[in-house]
Amino acid sequence: MITISSGHVIALVAAFGLLLVAALLGAAQAALSRITLPTSLKLEAEGRRGSGALVRLTEEPATTANILALLTLLSQAAGVALITVVSLAVLDAPWAVLLAAVGGAVLLYVGAEVAPKTVALQRAESAALSLAPVVAPLARVFGPVAGVLIRVGNAIAPGRGLEAGPFVTEDQLRAMIDAAESDEVIESSERAMIHSIFELGDTMVREIMVPRPDMVMVSVEESLHKVLDVILEAGHSRIPVYRDSRDQIVGLLYAKDALRRLHAGGDEEGPWGDLLRPAHFVPELKPVDALLRELQAKKIHLAVVVDEYGTTAGLVTIEDILEEIVGEIVDEYDLEESLVEPLTDRRWRVDARLPIDELSELVDKELPAEEWDTVGGLLFGLLGHVAMPGEQAAVDGVRLTAERVDGRRIAKVLVDQLQTEEDEPGGG
Ligand code: ADP
Repeated sequence: MITISSGHVIALVAAFGLLLVAALLGAAQAALSRITLPTSLKLEAEGRRGSGALVRLTEEPATTANILALLTLLSQAAGVALITVVSLAVLDAPWAVLLAAVGGAVLLYVGAEVAPKTVALQRAESAALSLAPVVAPLARVFGPVAGVLIRVGNAIAPGRGLEAGPFVTEDQLRAMIDAAESDEVIESSERAMIHSIFELGDTMVREIMVPRPDMVMVSVEESLHKVLDVILEAGHSRIPVYRDSRDQIVGLLYAKDALRRLHAGGDEEGPWGDLLRPAHFVPELKPVDALLRELQAKKIHLAVVVDEYGTTAGLVTIEDILEEIVGEIVDEYDLEESLVEPLTDRRWRVDARLPIDELSELVDKELPAEEWDTVGGLLFGLLGHVAMPGEQAAVDGVRLTAERVDGRRIAKVLVDQLQTEEDEPGGG
């Protein structure tokens, strides 16, 4: 005969009360995981109710998450313990413990995990605003307890852990971005841009610069008339100016300064050194993200790249960095040219400046890209000497032929994908 005393009823009511608390805490955890400090500050500026408490909670997200985890666990454990005690007393059999444990777990999972978190995630902002005024005082009271317990935990398992907060690695972030794209949360172009931004830190200036042979430069000895011819032909608005040799860059000439001088009736043949603006120099092994910050902070558009010996290696502009993120930009004066010309499905004519990574994609191989950045560099390295037109070298089933050589520099390369045994099951 099952008898339920009023004490049991009170205990059960208390247990459900605790499960309700656990549900609210779960909802708060889910909602707060979606709200960052800038968002809560914005809500505070809008004067939303509850935003003050929300700001306090998001100021220290790691501490808030730890306290919420502790409180959730406490209320869940206490709730299930009460249910177990009541079941045991009422049913008076050992299996009552098992029933209470399994029943309690299912109840908790559905009622205090899945349901409240799903609701809170869908309306993260309003859920966070309504729950923050309740959670913030709790956090203040239980904060020190959680802090002590984490320290005890860290003593058992030392290392960077919960105190540092929920941290993610770059790989995890990138995986999340890929997942967001497959879930159609973001577009594939946005995904590509975000990945490119991560890669900026691993890309060196020399990989994106316009190399020295392609720099349009003028000597300070030239007449302004001649200089203007060069500017008009190249279509660039900033031209490095050198004295004696291309390694002695003395400044930059802006096309608009030259035009202004001529427009004002200045002498086309006279000296123009006073028009020079200071050049900014950067090392070729600087990461591109640092370069972007530097150019932005100093409000510089073009930097001259030098190698470790101070020799001019190339130049780089903000446009070159943006192209790394958003892809090739063709402005009205850039010459639109393709670096790859397909000849057959296994043969291409490529510009020697084509990055090795792009050739690897083209031939679907992992070509060695540690020592050289461009296809011209790769062929030069494989040959081990200055190339003569027609010279060939093969690497990883790809044959490179120096088709055109300008002076000591390879200009055009023929790429042949060689037949392999795998391609021809019958042959060999
Ligand atoms: P501009 O409009 O003056 O050409 P941008 O900053 O838009 O300058 O750059 C467009 C492209 O031209 C970039 O790839 C940049 O590196 C290149 N570039 C800019 N100035 C020169 C120059 N003097 N010589 C060679 N390439 C240049």
